[in-house]
Amino acid sequence: MSRRAVGIDLGGTAIKAGAVNPAGDVLARTEVASGVADGAEAVCERIAACARELGATHGLGIGVPGLVDRTRGLVTKSPNLAPMEGYPLRDELARRLGLAPQAVHLENDANVAALGEHWLGGARGERHALVVTLGTGIGGGLILDGALFVGEGGLAAEVGHTTVDPRGPRCGCGNRGCLEALASATAASRRAAAAGLTADLKALTAAARAAAGPERELLHEVGRDLGRGLAQALTLLDLRCYLIGGGFGAAFDVLEPAIREGLLERSYGRAPEELRLRPATLGADAGWIGAARLAIGDASE
Ligand SMILES: [Zn+2]
Repeated sequence: MSRRAVGIDLGGTAIKAGAVNPAGDVLARTEVASGVADGAEAVCERIAACARELGATHGLGIGVPGLVDRTRGLVTKSPNLAPMEGYPLRDELARRLGLAPQAVHLENDANVAALGEHWLGGARGERHALVVTLGTGIGGGLILDGALFVGEGGLAAEVGHTTVDPRGPRCGCGNRGCLEALASATAASRRAAAAGLTADLKALTAAARAAAGPERELLHEVGRDLGRGLAQALTLLDLRCYLIGGGFGAAFDVLEPAIREGLLERSYGRAPEELRLRPATLGADAGWIGAARLAIGDASE
């Protein structure tokens, strides 16, 4: 079998997986229900079954929605995968697949999405980039000097919890006015309902796309808040490349002018044409592709 690595995107509802070779060719893919309610052992066995089917000869990467302990190879906190918290996922998978533990990599889902977009997607060729996953929450993954930057404790680029308005709505993290509480899909839907508009984001986006009116104005406000939040990365790191992905990223064409406006409003000294604000291009595949990239890193050493 040719040299290949397997990437797994372990979500609360589905396990999306695929195999790629070091050149970035997608060789195979599969998807099964994660069945989290069946418990950690059952989820682990489903991941192992996917990896066997895809042929994880050179390692395995797994992206999870939550916090991971890279040293111990486990999920420490994940509301969507609560039964997996504390379960020795890396070691159990290595044992079941006959791999060395160091050939199994665990990483946060927004981080692997950034790796995927940088390797084969919209951030290809960029030296530095912030990849934003706009969904139920807002996640971020930071590429610095061509590599994933996770910070001292692995929490770098948690852009969803940067403060945009300290007096704003309450966020899931307990603080007020986080970017996520203002510009995630959940927040946009809530803001639309509060303004007497449809809370269905697809319908809202379609209406905003079709004609000027209150829907377009509302999404403009949401997009501008998003830009203001991202401006913190611009100010701190002088990042010029921003990719917007995730489910709500499908509204990128509608949000883009407002995101740019929010960013430029706080872009001290930078010229507008230097900003590279683009949609993510891998869609739901970014996670598993980036997870596989983690494993490829090993294989090519
Ligand atoms: Zn927050």
